[in-house]
Amino acid sequence: MEASTRIVQGLGKVVDDHIAWLSQWHQVAFYGGVDRAAKADDAKMPNSFLQWHDRATFALPNQGPILNRLAELHEQLHTAAKLVLLRAPDGEALPIQDYERVLSRFDEFVTSVRRLERAFSEAAAGLDPLTGLRTRTGLQEDFNREMNRYMNAKTPFTLAMVDIDHFKNVNDTYGHDTGDRVLVGVANTLLRHIRTYDDAYRLGGEEFLLILKGLDNDGAEKVLERLRAAIQRAELKAPDGTPLHVTASFGHVMVDEKKTMDELLQLSDQALYKAKREGRNRIIKAA
Ligand code: GH3
Ligand code: MG
Ligand code: MG
Repeated sequence: MEASTRIVQGLGKVVDDHIAWLSQWHQVAFYGGVDRAAKADDAKMPNSFLQWHDRATFALPNQGPILNRLAELHEQLHTAAKLVLLRAPDGEALPIQDYERVLSRFDEFVTSVRRLERAFSEAAAGLDPLTGLRTRTGLQEDFNREMNRYMNAKTPFTLAMVDIDHFKNVNDTYGHDTGDRVLVGVANTLLRHIRTYDDAYRLGGEEFLLILKGLDNDGAEKVLERLRAAIQRAELKAPDGTPLHVTASFGHVMVDEKKTMDELLQLSDQALYKAKREGRNRIIKAA
């Protein structure tokens, strides 16, 4: 089983344990006649989260920021919960705002866990959680299917690599969140301009791959030119409402039964690199 699948399953238990924990905490908080201060420590955190967090940090080293944020929310939840009990140790009524703080921390924590769970399951299902495009996961299989069709029926297809130009500037100027929005915007433009039976992948960062079915070099050229123009035209918005435009460069290669997928990807990558060198915002066919 993949590491991320195991991690997702672990999150289910984290949520369950916290729901059980919250109901225990409610009992301590609302039943009179208990020494709440003595119970404050019992009402501390279930350790399933901390165990999960250790495993996740080890298994998914590049998810550091998200995992740290979750650990922070978790810590805040339990600190708030403990404080409430310590402040009203002898069974007097709890200040409503303290109580509400615990509930909203609980909400925030569980919502974040759920969001992470969804992101991981989508990644495991071969979908990029940010753009909804496919990931590399199913690419080889999709490629093989098209290659078979080509061998049997001589229906050609084209691989096109797409990379946003100077994307680093968008992040540097407007921040990472706007960068993410631009990625979603470009992904949507890609989807609008290919046909439903074509495939679009986010290979990583700001790099996409298209499988354009039934298209030889000339056919692909036309589709990609429409796409290039559409990306350039699309108006995106910075957080302050400033209109924001990006362009993209393209490298494409037509199927060749003597070449493997990796070889074809490498050729389209080289063409893309040439498009960058020649000034970006253009389409280059593989040599
Ligand atoms: P070029 O025109 O040569 O392609 O330049 P570039 O700036 O687009 O390319 P470069 O590879 O130098 O920078 C890509 C940037 O994309 C760097 C990285 O921080 C950013 N990036 C990668 N993944 C993400 C992401 O998921 N979200 C955001 N906002 N930025 C990302
Ligand atoms: Mg780029
Ligand atoms: Mg790139």
